[in-house]
Amino acid sequence: MRTLKKLLIASLAISCCLPVYAQFDFLKGVGGGLGKGVDAAKNLFEQTKDIDEPKEIALGQEFAATLLGAKPLWNDVAAQKYVNALGRWLTLQTERPDLPWTFGVLDDDGFNAFATPGGNIFVTRGLLARMHNESELAGVLSHEIAHVLRKHYLTAMKSKAFIGIGGDLLISNYAKGNFSEFKEMALKAAREMYSKGLDKGDEYEADRIAVVIAARAGYDPYGLPAVLQTLQSQSAQDSNFSLLFSTHPSPNDRIDSLDKAMRSRFGSGNWIAGKTIEERLKEFSR
Ligand SMILES: [Zn+2]
Repeated sequence: MRTLKKLLIASLAISCCLPVYAQFDFLKGVGGGLGKGVDAAKNLFEQTKDIDEPKEIALGQEFAATLLGAKPLWNDVAAQKYVNALGRWLTLQTERPDLPWTFGVLDDDGFNAFATPGGNIFVTRGLLARMHNESELAGVLSHEIAHVLRKHYLTAMKSKAFIGIGGDLLISNYAKGNFSEFKEMALKAAREMYSKGLDKGDEYEADRIAVVIAARAGYDPYGLPAVLQTLQSQSAQDSNFSLLFSTHPSPNDRIDSLDKAMRSRFGSGNWIAGKTIEERLKEFSR
């Protein structure tokens, strides 16, 4: 519970100090200034490829502060406890169980989920309310966990699209102990990340890994596909879903991609219930 307390305190502190971010305003205008050129991209790559775990965690804390500054945690202790308990169980199934994983429910009606480097995961109150069962939530949390495991945010910082954040300076500021500059730049990076989204390929990869994590934890691996089916029926124009739609591949494409990966391994939906080996061998001999 220490972590929850820490998050609540952080959230309170941020909502007192940074009211200017209280309306997700950082997501409206994507920061400009992509003017540093190819050399900067090279530097950025050189600097970020060596981000060690403490730097990854420090960066993630700044990203989390940005998210919490935009939307505070939902004031519902049971919900926070529950999401942490479920999330921690899922992370125990992964290759990075020792990261300081922290889960939180943001006080927001929209349908969204976010991750930061180093293991902070947030879902919105609106997402939680729209889950039909725990397997669906396990699928969503596992998707975010996968972004952390595969360091997708750090990869994004290396990409040309994010030259504007000055990631090279960001990391060197951290290395030199210039923490105020580091915080300022991390804030800028977070704004860009959460408004632009990640690489599409990374999203598909997170979906595939999510299914495996959820299954390892004992959940129906079809929880995430079920969520994507729900999303299919939503309009991208609906403000509760628009950010998710603009930062991810379409639910249709995600289902298609997962379908290929899951079918080739597991056949139809009842793979746990079990087909006989004979049936399997017949399928694989076609
Ligand atoms: Zn994602």
